[in-house]
Amino acid sequence: MAGGSKSSSTQKPPRNNKEVETLAVPISTLSLAAVQNAADSNDSNNLVPIVSSYNDRIRPLLDAVDKLRHLNVAAKEGIQLPTIVVVGDQSSGKSSVLESLAGISLPRGQGICTRVPLIMRLHHHSAPAPELYLEYSSNGSLKKVSTDETHVAAAINSATEEIAGGGKGISNNPLTLVVRKNGVPDLTMVDLPGITRVPVHGQPEDIYEQVTETIMEYIKPEESIILNVLSATVDFSTCESIRMSQRVDKTGDRTLAVVTKVDKSPEGLLEKVAADDVGIGLGYVCVRNRIGEESYQDARVAEAQLFSSHPLLSRIDKSIVGVPVLAQKLVQIQAAIISRCLPEIVKKINEKLSSNIADLNKMPKRMNSVGEAVTAFMVILGSAKESLRKLIVRGEFDEYPDDNQMHCTARLFEMLEKFASQLNSAPESDHFSNFLADEIRILEEYKGIWLPDFLSQSAFLTRLSSKVKGISGIPVGFVEEVWNYIENVVVTVMTQRCEDHHQLQLSTRRACHNLMAKMRDRSINWVIEVLQMEELTDYTCNPDYMTEWHKLMSARSDFLKSARDGHQNSPGSCSIPEFGTVSVEAGVRNSACLEQAYDLKMRIATYWKIVLRRLVDSMALHVQLGMRNLVEKELEKGVVEELMGRHGGAIEKMLEESPSVAAKREKLNGSIRLLRESKDVLATVMDRIASSSL
Ligand code: GDP
Ligand code: MG
Repeated sequence: MAGGSKSSSTQKPPRNNKEVETLAVPISTLSLAAVQNAADSNDSNNLVPIVSSYNDRIRPLLDAVDKLRHLNVAAKEGIQLPTIVVVGDQSSGKSSVLESLAGISLPRGQGICTRVPLIMRLHHHSAPAPELYLEYSSNGSLKKVSTDETHVAAAINSATEEIAGGGKGISNNPLTLVVRKNGVPDLTMVDLPGITRVPVHGQPEDIYEQVTETIMEYIKPEESIILNVLSATVDFSTCESIRMSQRVDKTGDRTLAVVTKVDKSPEGLLEKVAADDVGIGLGYVCVRNRIGEESYQDARVAEAQLFSSHPLLSRIDKSIVGVPVLAQKLVQIQAAIISRCLPEIVKKINEKLSSNIADLNKMPKRMNSVGEAVTAFMVILGSAKESLRKLIVRGEFDEYPDDNQMHCTARLFEMLEKFASQLNSAPESDHFSNFLADEIRILEEYKGIWLPDFLSQSAFLTRLSSKVKGISGIPVGFVEEVWNYIENVVVTVMTQRCEDHHQLQLSTRRACHNLMAKMRDRSINWVIEVLQMEELTDYTCNPDYMTEWHKLMSARSDFLKSARDGHQNSPGSCSIPEFGTVSVEAGVRNSACLEQAYDLKMRIATYWKIVLRRLVDSMALHVQLGMRNLVEKELEKGVVEELMGRHGGAIEKMLEESPSVAAKREKLNGSIRLLRESKDVLATVMDRIASSSL
């Protein structure tokens, strides 16, 4: 470092055995305690210059971590990186400590100066001229600003203003300062805004909460080393920063204390540090920073003199005093924490990478040409057809075991049963109420000048036709219900098959609705035709008709006798074998057409059963044929016609992804790119380490 003590520049940096030994330990087992012991046992009189304490094997690791930091894996992927975080109460001397380590001027002084997290990357380089630059994101783009030692403070201030605004507010968007300078330790640290209890003029009311939140975000991860800057002038136990670090690091194992301003308050310092009331696991280092406008070199000389000759301060063990000791400890702690964390980071990156790749593979393939889209569409249609064939035709519902609505054959059968029972319970199927009254009324009107015992076929057809008209709503309602139900099933299956293609889903749904409306209309027309046939012709080849009719006719004379014998003006009850017990009104009993009415009634009653059965049977066969046609022919034809013909363009639209799918794909791709890049960074460094240790 610039302040690198004069003595150190003349010394050939001795290779520290302890350090080599420590770093030869497999990196995964390297512990902070080991580093701590190594650092403690250094002979302070034989201080290793800061730069030489750096180990060649750690430098690439630090570079790798810095690259990962630059890639922002923590914020983007939630992978925490080993970080040295500088915390302290306001004006405790945080920025001054960083200045001392880097040999540059940072904004400092009264009030809140550090308003954004400042990631400071110190790199030793052999060129004599230092190289300084700032990196930060501004309005979404990454900005790189070169600067020099004289202007760095101003550059930081203006970058801070750009990030956190011109006032005194803070932001948790970090600013990175890279310092490449001969003699600086290879260290990356984060300087955070100081903790203030009371907002000063111009600061937001919740400044304390904002600052503590930012600090907590940085010190909470187990991967963070907390560099707690304490002013010698205060009672450590009253420091807010101590309270905060104790909250996240209960044992103190990852907290190192730097005591500043020792020159101001040397009394009792030795005792304070030795007592360690606040439980600092990684120990204390006492330093004297630059005061006023003195140069770094002068500050280092003054510091060395202070600790060697001050009556009180000289009594403090040399292994815990001075900026060079601090630098060395930090470098070693950093090496240990990086070594300890890297395997876990590699693991996390691999895990995230494979889970993201798996997620991406689960996403629908992006299509690039109409040909691809047509193929994809035909695959979707084929698989939908197969599902519908299973559900509707074959009655297999393994794809929807728990969704009763999709168990088509059972639901269709229930609908058919309901249809049959509606027909049978319709008023037209009730042969008992107003027994023979309607028949007599019709026969009265079909009287003519001809022999009386012939039953007019026209009278029969009139009766039949009015009955058929009466029930015609039931078969029409039945096919409507069937097609509405099937439409739901078809739309459900198609919608699911197209769920990755929003546009296709919409047009397919529309195509299905249109197709089903067509099928439904066709069915209704057919039903109307069937009903017309029933109205027009009375025919059956079913021998049951004649058998049953004969039976009923053989009861005719008994019926007529008992009806005629009934008491005048009171309803008489007659039992007709094979038919049932009927009550006969007086008007009916006395009608001249009673005989013919009985004849007509029994024909109609017998034939009506045949008509209803024929309706149920033919509806059943019709529905089955309709379902088969739908699945085997109409669906594909109808949907393809709609999508490629009338509503052309639906297939082309498959090429456009829905915004949410596109965003998800974009995010996953970005994440995978980042993780691959991170993986490469680590693989390169691991390879280098492996080959150098051969
Ligand atoms: P920060 O707010 O924690 O970043 O504190 P600064 O680094 O800005 O320091 C606050 C004030 O304390 C400045 O005026 C520094 O010059 C002064 N200061 C820091 N370290 C020392 C030190 O070791 N000795 C003396 N005498 N003053 C110091
Ligand atoms: Mg500061």
